[in-house]
Parts: sequence; C-alpha cells; structure tokens
Amino acid sequence: MDEFWSHCLAHFERTLNTQQLNTWIRPLVAEEVVGQVDVTAPNGFVAQWVRDKFLTEIEQLAIDYFPVATRVVLKISGGRSTRQSDDKPPGEIPDDKLQAPPPTRDQAPVIRQVVETPAKPAVAADESRINPQFNFDCFVAGKANDLARAAALQVADNPGSGYNPLFVYGGVGLGKTHLIHAIGNRMLQGNTKARVKYIHADRYVSDMVRAVRSNSYDDFKRRYDSLDLLMIDDIQFFAGKEGTQQQFFYTFNTLIEDHKQVIITSDTFPKDMEGIEERLKSRFSWGLTVMLEPPELEMRVAILLDKARLEKASLDEGTAFFIAKQVRSNVRELEGALKRVIAFARFNKLPISIELAKEALKDLLAVQNRQISVENIQKTVADYFKIKVADMYSKKRTRTLARPRQMAMYLARELTNLSYPEIGQSFGGRDHTTVLHACGKIEELKAADQNLRRDYNLLIQVLTG
Ligand code: ADP
Ligand code: MG
Repeated sequence: MDEFWSHCLAHFERTLNTQQLNTWIRPLVAEEVVGQVDVTAPNGFVAQWVRDKFLTEIEQLAIDYFPVATRVVLKISGGRSTRQSDDKPPGEIPDDKLQAPPPTRDQAPVIRQVVETPAKPAVAADESRINPQFNFDCFVAGKANDLARAAALQVADNPGSGYNPLFVYGGVGLGKTHLIHAIGNRMLQGNTKARVKYIHADRYVSDMVRAVRSNSYDDFKRRYDSLDLLMIDDIQFFAGKEGTQQQFFYTFNTLIEDHKQVIITSDTFPKDMEGIEERLKSRFSWGLTVMLEPPELEMRVAILLDKARLEKASLDEGTAFFIAKQVRSNVRELEGALKRVIAFARFNKLPISIELAKEALKDLLAVQNRQISVENIQKTVADYFKIKVADMYSKKRTRTLARPRQMAMYLARELTNLSYPEIGQSFGGRDHTTVLHACGKIEELKAADQNLRRDYNLLIQVLTG
C-alpha cells in the first residue's frame, strides 16, 4: 500500500472509532503519483462525507508528509469523478479581484480539487472543525510548553480580553495544532453557543478564493467577522498571497476591535516570517507570542506513558525512558515509535520491554547508533565552542572549558544509552556525581539562559540531523 495512505490510516485509527473508520476511511482507495494523491471513494455519499469531514485533515497530513507540493484529489469510483471544467483548482487561481499575484506552486503545498457529488449535503453539523480529541486533558505539560500551555488556558477561559492575538509558534510535531484545538474545546465547554472556528491557513486561502469566484465573498467575510474565536493554523501558508493577507487584515482588525479572540500558529517567530506583510506581522505581536519547544527527556517519557495508557498498553518506565532516548525530535515521531512498539508487541503477543522495543525500533536505532557516540558528541561540542577535544577529558576547571564539557555530558545522557558512571568514564574517568551535577546545571541554565538554550538546540540538530 502507498506509504502516505498507511500514514493516513494510522492517523485515523487513532482519531476515529472503529465504526467511523470502517464506514468512511477503509473503503477509500488511494493512489500516489508525484505531486498528487488520488483518493477514490466507492460512491458519492462516502465522497461527500469524506469531503466535508476528513478532507481537510487528509490535506493537512499531506502538507506534513510530503516535502513537495502535493494535491489531494477526491474521486468517485468508476464515475466521472472530479469536476473537469475549465476551472483550475482553487489554490491555483490568480485572483485579480483581490489583486493577488498568482500563487506559485511552492507556496501552496496542498491544492484541493472539488469533487462533484450528487446531492447537496445537509449543512455540516460541526462548522467549527474542532477535533474533540485534542483537549487539555491529554496535552502533557512540561518545560517545553509550560508558558504556551498556561497562556492557552488563560485565553480559553478569558477569550478576547487579554492575550489577543495569541500567537503560537514552533517546529513541526510539537503540539501547535493540538494546543489550539484544546483552547477551542475548552471554550465550547464553557459556552456551547460560542462561535468558534478552526481553519488551516491553506484551507482559508482556497475557501476565500472560491468565495470570491462564486460571488459569495460578502457571506464569507460576514461569517468570519461574526466569530467569537478564530484560529488560523500554520499562517506561514499565507506567504506571498497578498490578496488573502489584505482580506485577513480586515477580518483580524474587526475581530480584535470587537474583543473577539484570534489565535494564530506558525512555524516561525512572527518577525521572522517571510512573504508576510509588515503590518500583519506587527499586529501579530500585539498580543502574546509563545513558543513550543522540543520536549526534554522527562517530558517525552511522560508523553509516552500517557499515550500508552490511552492505548491501554502496559509500558513500564524503563522502557519509556529507552524509547524517549531514541526519539527526540518531536512528539509526532515519538507517537509513531510508540505505535510501532505497541503493534509489534500485540502482533507477537509479547509484553512490552526494552528488548522488544529495541527489536521493534531496529531500523531507527541502526541509523542513530552509527551517528551518535560519546566521541562524536565530544568532538562536535568542542568544535562548536572552539576548544580542544582533549579538554573534554582534562582536569582543567575554567568556566570556558567546564561549560562545554557539561553540555557534552548532558548531550551524552540525552543522546546515548550510556549510564551516568559510563558517561563519567568517557570524560577522563570522572565520577558519576560529576555527570549528575553537570546535567542538573545544564538543565537549569536551559531554562534561564536563552543563549545556552540556542547552543543546545543547535547542537542537538547537528548531532541528530
Ligand atoms: P504541530 O501542529 O505543532 O505540527 P501537532 O499538534 O499536530 O503538532 O502534534 C503532533 C502530535 O503530537 C499530535 O498527535 C499531538 O496530539 C501530539 N502532541 C504534541 N504535543 C503533545 C503534548 N504536550 N502532549 C500530548 N500529545 C502531544
Ligand atoms: Mg499542526
């Protein structure tokens, strides 16, 4: 089966119940060609439902999955499936009414094509597009997200009154989408009548273009202007789309002036975004900007234990630590690794253990073990701080040497499977308490010192690249 589709199935297995899965997702057949995924539904009814309920999600998965622009095309089996008019798909339309330049392919990674379906659907029950599974209860807290999480709770409980807009940024798979859905869910819990909308930026662009073309732009604008909470995910997709940005600028101002809450996510800090108008960027900084960072070891363990509990799999702490040490980049990959371990255990009818995890994650480990050794860490850190590798083992204690050495020990703990005494041994036969102290020190500085945190993130990237 195509890899992307397996990835989608795995995702929906997590988010849907068996009945939904069997009714809507399993009957779909996917075919990948370069730049396009054809998803074929057995009949118009399923196609319509999938388009209304799941297409956005599939598109989102495609955005995350493919390195290049890829369109998701929904088709109906046998029939004349997609609309073959002279229309180009919405994402590709240069929109003169909005004075937007034609979006280039690079800027629109997922282009949706509208499926022609027999009957007009009833109005979608859930216009908010909020996924109830993404709530605060299953959002594990930790140093990497504590400010973002606190701000999110604050906004959910007092929308429109304090942090407006709330701007959440961070790398892929770190929980941006989850966190903002959690805000929407909580706000709806507090007030079921609240008009809440979640939308991916890419979808916003194509919806707007479509509205303009079908002369329903006023409706479109009214719908957005009357919301209590608007959440735009991955706003970097607005890059280069001047028409959209201009329109969004008005909606944004309207909502903020009315004390309605706006939440935005992005992969970068507002000021660093490219292809976004200055006036928008500066407005994004009006409220509160919070960052999601890659989770540290303890938090990764906590996430694993929590996810295992939700999956009703029994995972002990030792094995959780083992897995958490192998997968550092982001939560999505951590989840993927855990799923592999659980599936492997169930398939072989064995309990989960470190041994079993090693076996299940064999490929992953093979790649890493080649790359990361203590020597490698020492050399990389020494180069980075421009000191001699020999100073990693030396007894000299000047701060210019001690700090890099502590950093290297800390990284060795994070990136290798060595114990504290073994790490001490590799650093000129130091005692394990020295390693413990070093790790504590770096942990502390990471929280307090932005430069050190940057050093750490860069080193991790270089070492795990
Ligand atoms: P992003 O939008 O930043 O790319 P997502 O919100 O899609 O990331 O998160 C990726 C996956 O990781 C999701 O399944 C989400 O539930 C999970 N996840 C992220 N952060 C956490 C967390 N702190 N606790 C539990 N699950 C998390
Ligand atoms: Mg996301």
